[in-house]
Amino acid sequence: MKEEIQIREWEKRVRRVVPYTPGEQPKRQDIIKLNTNECPYPPSPLVKRLAAEYRTDPLRLYPDPDASELVQEIAGYLGVGEEQVFVGVGSDDVLAMAFLAFFNSTKPILFPDITYSFYDVWAELFRIPYRRPKLDGTFRLVKEDYLAENGGIVIANPNAPTGVEEEPELIEEIVARNPDSLVIIDEAYVDFGARSALPLVNRYENVLVVQTFSKSRAMAGMRIGFAVGSKKAIGYLKDVKFSFNSYTMNAPSIAWGAASIRDEDYFRETVGRIVATRERTKKELLRLGFTFPDSRTNFIFASHSSIPARELFEALKEEGIYVRYFDRPRIDNYVRITIGTDEQMDRMISFLERYIGIKRDM
Ligand SMILES: *Cc1c(COP(=O)(O)O)cnc(C)c1O
Repeated sequence: MKEEIQIREWEKRVRRVVPYTPGEQPKRQDIIKLNTNECPYPPSPLVKRLAAEYRTDPLRLYPDPDASELVQEIAGYLGVGEEQVFVGVGSDDVLAMAFLAFFNSTKPILFPDITYSFYDVWAELFRIPYRRPKLDGTFRLVKEDYLAENGGIVIANPNAPTGVEEEPELIEEIVARNPDSLVIIDEAYVDFGARSALPLVNRYENVLVVQTFSKSRAMAGMRIGFAVGSKKAIGYLKDVKFSFNSYTMNAPSIAWGAASIRDEDYFRETVGRIVATRERTKKELLRLGFTFPDSRTNFIFASHSSIPARELFEALKEEGIYVRYFDRPRIDNYVRITIGTDEQMDRMISFLERYIGIKRDM
């Protein structure tokens, strides 16, 4: 008797994708977690107070579909109109909606070969054709690549996982010379000392600047992200969002996110601390024989002169220090190290010192 393997029609119709793999979120509490670019400090004390006082009765009602309180705070903080702000469940949600809304051409969208690895996943999911021009040898964009015909452009600036910031003039030129394309600038890390493309949103209709509360605002667990753009572009984005799910932003996210924006002092202090720790960590890593592109983010993308990155990644993990390793062409000899507290970085540095020392003496 021959058994037939039959693939049913329903299965052939599945919209198949290879999903994005996020960094590990280990269950263990005792590790030093430097693998997903979270903030090592807690959210603003204002958020803590609101959470402690939170009344659950209103949860029986649907939340405000426009998330007005949060939108108002963001618009006021950035000095743009409320109709220029779109909020979502993390910038991943905002970016996915933007891909769905704006990338609807038979021409390929463009993003670099080395960048946030969710872009190609969304392109695959939505069946958007794409091309990935190579960054140059120093992980910089090659401008000409983005002046070719395209169906849209996505640039993370500063880029992930490299940490490299592109000049605002380059970003503007790409936006200006692509009037027929929507250009997304993903600024997940902009608060750590890079220059934002926000000034462009009042001068160009075709640019969308996307930011998040997950890194600099220590609220990755709340899932809040936003886009800022022309009134027209934001309008199109809202139409798609409200055709998908009206109530993505839950009531606590709206209220606590707004509180985080109100506490500007705490935000500046936290970001300042992380930047100071980053600059100190750069010096230590250089001393230990690492090289890295200069980082304007809350992580350092480092390669060692003699020890392979994969080995370092595993040795650190063994020690309970989690960093990120990408087994991909051109970047498989780098580890991406999130900037933690000073104490966490000291522990990592002293482990590396010992490890590299022992290897050297062997
Ligand atoms: C972390 C990150 C995001 C996603 O952030 P969420 O707001 O937590 O969804 C988007 N883009 C880049 C480049 C990131 O590093």
